[in-house]
Amino acid sequence: MKKYLFPIIMLIVFETIAITLWLTKDNIFYLFNFSYIGCSIALGMFLLIRKHKHARRIVQLLVGLYMLVYLGLICRENMQIEGFWYYLFTGVFEAATIHYAVAKIFGPLLFGRGWCGYACWTAMVLDFLPYKAPSGPRRKLGWIRYITFALSLIFVAALFLTHVGNIGKIMFWAFIIGNVLYYAVGIVLAFVFKDNRAFCKYVCPITVFLKPMSYFALVRVKCDRSKCVSCGKCRRVCPMDVDVTDNSRKRKNGTECILCMECVKNCPKKAL
Ligand code: SF4
Ligand code: SF4
Ligand code: SF4
Repeated sequence: MKKYLFPIIMLIVFETIAITLWLTKDNIFYLFNFSYIGCSIALGMFLLIRKHKHARRIVQLLVGLYMLVYLGLICRENMQIEGFWYYLFTGVFEAATIHYAVAKIFGPLLFGRGWCGYACWTAMVLDFLPYKAPSGPRRKLGWIRYITFALSLIFVAALFLTHVGNIGKIMFWAFIIGNVLYYAVGIVLAFVFKDNRAFCKYVCPITVFLKPMSYFALVRVKCDRSKCVSCGKCRRVCPMDVDVTDNSRKRKNGTECILCMECVKNCPKKAL
């Protein structure tokens, strides 16, 4: 049972959030929402421990499609970063604000960039592309993320400052157009750089939240240097160019790992 401890902990964490929000906000949606996400993540981890080949992809589809199709398109909630700014400006602690607080701001203190490996609906599609491990070194283009981050904030601030009507409807269409743009840019970059995760490395504005918080992550992949034979396999299979043999928490290592476990699966010496 000990090996299943982590999925059990994740389930307990999400159920605690689900029940707390349900009771404090008097809305049963939160019970359903966070129970579903917690069960999906726990199931994914359980399958991962059982060495199921598609464990990560299963949880990515379960959570990603739920957020994109159900919350985004059916419930018309803008779950992108613009939605976060929108609810923040209106002073309402709902939907996107709670989602960001749990998955992208405070959650990474516990599970790092697990969101990027197991739940993001953008990466859910990008991970189907052919370049699972990058074929070249990382480019110095990470500054682009600060521009997309600033643009998202300026866009929502401009809507409020100009007092345009029906912001709710605009935010719904911004969600659709924003996602189409993300997918288009992500797919083009993946083929140009021969790297499925190029969008994550250079463009995604959410990493501005994710990277500093995941620096402190409790859950990390660590290397037992006494077992490592420096074969370099872990580095070659890593979609995020992390040198996992270096246990440092610095930006390139600690804050880039998405906990996909490809390195762990491929290490011939079980050093990870
Ligand atoms: S970096 Fe952005 S696009 Fe990539 S998985 Fe994370 S949240 Fe999704
Ligand atoms: S794959 Fe394992 S043995 Fe090889 S360099 Fe990485 S940690 Fe060391
Ligand atoms: S270091 Fe390992 S777990 Fe982290 S992103 Fe790279 S392959 Fe995945």
